[in-house]
Amino acid sequence: MTLRLATVRNRAHFVIGDNSDPRIVDVAKASNNALPSDPMECLARWSELQAFAQTLDTSSAVAVTLEELDCPVPRPRQMFAIGLNYKKHAAEMGSPLPPLPLVFSKFQSSLNSPAGDVTVVGETVDYESELVIIVGKGGRDIVEANAWQHIAGLCVGQDVSDRGLQYMGSPAQFNMGKSRRGFSPIGPWVTDMTNNPNRDNLHLGCTVNGEKRQDTQTNDMIFDIAHIVSYLSTVVELFPGDVIYTGSPFGVGHGHKPPRYMKPGDVVETTLEGVGTIRNRFV
Ligand code: ZN
Repeated sequence: MTLRLATVRNRAHFVIGDNSDPRIVDVAKASNNALPSDPMECLARWSELQAFAQTLDTSSAVAVTLEELDCPVPRPRQMFAIGLNYKKHAAEMGSPLPPLPLVFSKFQSSLNSPAGDVTVVGETVDYESELVIIVGKGGRDIVEANAWQHIAGLCVGQDVSDRGLQYMGSPAQFNMGKSRRGFSPIGPWVTDMTNNPNRDNLHLGCTVNGEKRQDTQTNDMIFDIAHIVSYLSTVVELFPGDVIYTGSPFGVGHGHKPPRYMKPGDVVETTLEGVGTIRNRFV
């Protein structure tokens, strides 16, 4: 069974069943408290959860809706994001291709749940669909060949961006415009990719009010998942539960002519193949 870890009412849960009909089992209860109820501790003990999931008794599983899910990684020690990591997206932003990963931070207080609302703070709020890496085993100087062994799993996320704030100064600065309240929804759960042979070539996209806006394969990334993990670890130490946004493909609102920014009432559905869908209403 593929391990998927959701947070519901602040407790870690195994997810079973189809992504379209998910059911959950409380991790601590199912293991007689041999495993923790705290999602962050579960991410630090990922290999134990992987082993336990293989023999999980699913008879107590209950149905869960997207709206009931909390942010699956509630308290990451660090949150990284990579900018301009798809060629066509760099072009639509009028930026040259970065010679090394362009790293910025989305601050932790911007995290949001998979169906959380996002406040439209001005005229230039934008969406960015992204594949999000969740670190399992941390470390420094992780070589690319071992990088996946340090990844608990993937989430789908939105790197919501206040373009006005991002581009107000010269040079532009990313951290603040991407860290407003609710600007970092991720979910619907952390999906282990150990046994997914397509983990470097997944379909990623989003719709706004049902209209397709972003549509890509993740093998179009300039710097791939293993490279990003390895590169970050040459500079900083990675810790269990760290969140790494990996960049948005072509099709953000800012790239349209004229730009198409978010309005109150808009609904963005973001899907990553093999991982699931999050749905966020802009209010
Ligand atoms: Zn982004």
